[in-house]
Amino acid sequence: MTDHSIQALADLLLQSERIAVLTGAGMSTESGIPDFRSANGLWTKDMTLAEAISIDYFRYDPRAFWTSFKDIFSIKMVGHFQPNKGHAFIAWLEEIGKQVTVLTQNIDGLHQQAGSRNVVELHGTLLTASCPACGAVHGLDYIKAHDVPECHVCREVIKPDVVLYGEAVPHIEFAMECATQADCLMVLGSSLEVSPVNYIPVAAVENNVPAALINLTGTRLDRLFKHRIAAGIGQTCETLRQAIEQSTG
Ligand code: NAD
Repeated sequence: MTDHSIQALADLLLQSERIAVLTGAGMSTESGIPDFRSANGLWTKDMTLAEAISIDYFRYDPRAFWTSFKDIFSIKMVGHFQPNKGHAFIAWLEEIGKQVTVLTQNIDGLHQQAGSRNVVELHGTLLTASCPACGAVHGLDYIKAHDVPECHVCREVIKPDVVLYGEAVPHIEFAMECATQADCLMVLGSSLEVSPVNYIPVAAVENNVPAALINLTGTRLDRLFKHRIAAGIGQTCETLRQAIEQSTG
């Protein structure tokens, strides 16, 4: 991370009115939530993860599904994690008058907790679960209180409102539209391995939207980004904020 790369990204953000922000699991590691593909990420510990959190497994054995799902996402801890400096920076961009749309792959609710108002949860949320039979929605306390949560109306095993592997991604077209019509796209903390979300930066750049990536490690799509910062999100965002504040006096 050089002073020059920070200043160039700060200038881009300052010049942009509509900012699309795409975030991944790396956004929340500084809040204590492990990502999937870092050295200590959940994926490297268990290669069957994609099967364990798939819609096929939920349909095949919903009771066994809940046991592993609760373990993988540390459900007991959900609700106790706090937003970090990165989440706060994105919310602050809105406070200073930018039109920010957060397109997140995260399911932890931390962007909203930090104050971001326009958040599109592309992979759903851990905070609720719904009944596949009658649609009744159940909150986090209910999910936590039952090893295998059943619908309080019809006793079916409920399904987390998370987009499981094998399910369609809702709002993807809206997300593409936001990113391709923005003045800039900033991607934070994503390996850009998960489809179709990883097509968002491709579509944005094809539409001449300048794009920036803040990520500790390289991705297969690095070549797309005019601005690339290989550093931690919290420290980078703090430095960016100082640069923006200095430029605006
Ligand atoms: P990923 O795990 O595939 O990649 C995370 C990336 O973030 C890595 O490239 C890593 O180098 C980078 N990173 C980690 N900590 C960082 C930091 N402090 N600063 C800068 N970069 C950092 O994540 P993904 O691309 O979002 O794909 C994983 C899928 O897993 C997503 O679909 C997401 O829904 C889900 N997931 C969500 C959470 C969550 O909600 N917090 C947690 C784990 C997994």
